[in-house]
Amino acid sequence: MHELSLCKNIIDIVEEQSRNRSVKKVKAIYLEIGELALIEKSALTFSFELVAKGTIAEGAILSITDVPAKGLCDYCGVFVTIKQRFDPCVHCGNFSLKVIQGDELRIKTMEVE
Ligand SMILES: [Zn+2]
Repeated sequence: MHELSLCKNIIDIVEEQSRNRSVKKVKAIYLEIGELALIEKSALTFSFELVAKGTIAEGAILSITDVPAKGLCDYCGVFVTIKQRFDPCVHCGNFSLKVIQGDELRIKTMEVE
């Protein structure tokens, strides 16, 4: 379950950001998660509550936006939407798609007090 370590990273970033901005409390964190990032959202939310306990982000709402996966075909040079890794290109049928979006976990913004 890598969700736990992901949450630790998120909290680290949030605490660092909060220190710089003299934040008292983090109320919500908005995440963007790529469809190919293989993150179990319920596990992420659960882990977050555990890890956030006793930190500035305790009780914060985790809001998650899905980022669709996109690939670039090495063969025909077309950008396509992909449903899963190792999909063939919808234009030429070759298995030469390079993932250019959909792998990420990003903190988009946060709501603070
Ligand atoms: Zn192609």
